[in-house]
Amino acid sequence: MSTAYLWHPVSLEHDTGVHVETIARADRMNPANMRRLVPDLNVRPVEKHDTVEWILTVHERAYHDFVSDACIARHRLLDEGDTVICERSYDAALASVDAALTAADLVMSGECRTAFSAMRPPGHHALPGRAMGFCLFSNISILARYLQRRHGIGQIAIVDWDVHHGNGTQAIFYDDPSVFFVSLHQHPLWPGSGMRHERGEGPGMGYTLNIPIPPATPEAEYLARFDAEVLPALRKFAPEFILISAGFDAHRDDPLANLMLTESAFATLTDRVSEVAAETAGGRVISVLEGGYNLAALEKSTAAHIMALGR
Ligand SMILES: [Zn+2]
Repeated sequence: MSTAYLWHPVSLEHDTGVHVETIARADRMNPANMRRLVPDLNVRPVEKHDTVEWILTVHERAYHDFVSDACIARHRLLDEGDTVICERSYDAALASVDAALTAADLVMSGECRTAFSAMRPPGHHALPGRAMGFCLFSNISILARYLQRRHGIGQIAIVDWDVHHGNGTQAIFYDDPSVFFVSLHQHPLWPGSGMRHERGEGPGMGYTLNIPIPPATPEAEYLARFDAEVLPALRKFAPEFILISAGFDAHRDDPLANLMLTESAFATLTDRVSEVAAETAGGRVISVLEGGYNLAALEKSTAAHIMALGR
């Protein structure tokens, strides 16, 4: 049963100009291109949902309206830094959320066991009330809430192997014991959060796990850390569903960071997560694209990842 692949052409209209998070990434994720690497790609249409209502399970209404208004007004920046938008970015961001929610519907209906959303803009830095790091809405967090409230899932694990700390996802679920969040990320590196001692708060204490990885850590050592720390923690939590924030910027060729993974490492990580999913979650895994800025590394890593998801 091959993994469902979600992509929508509005992803090509989120025009950030000269920027690493570029339209060219959407072009590489275009099924017409991805089929060269994955001939049996199982492309499924992105369905519309009450998308704004689901966004508001995670984000403040004032922030949602700010994003929508900024795009209509043709503003160019959503924050003081690097989150560039254009007139079509709001619609692209809605489709990015819809792709993740469609993935949930497909898996919960039993049509497929795993799914991958190949959409941009990414989401894992977006905070409840603020854009950050090329991210508008927290696709994976909205997906987790959708699985819980629409599909009755209880315990969800989110594995974030993007090379940057998933600070937005962490903030959203920091006090929530129903969502176990684990992030592996290069440290030191932007945004600078994700230290070991950040473990959650209140009822969520112990349900956030941060694994900072030094620059230039060899691939074998990274994978050994994953096996030694992530897998036992996942098994202990026993999630009913596993989500992956799949950034591919820990690849050795990525221009934004200094980790050493090859595309085959992403297949290995996927296999490891799938093993736990088979034990506790009926094999259910949804993966959502985050970063990855070397285009050749991005498409090769994505192909390796979705082929492993389909095994
Ligand atoms: Zn990243």
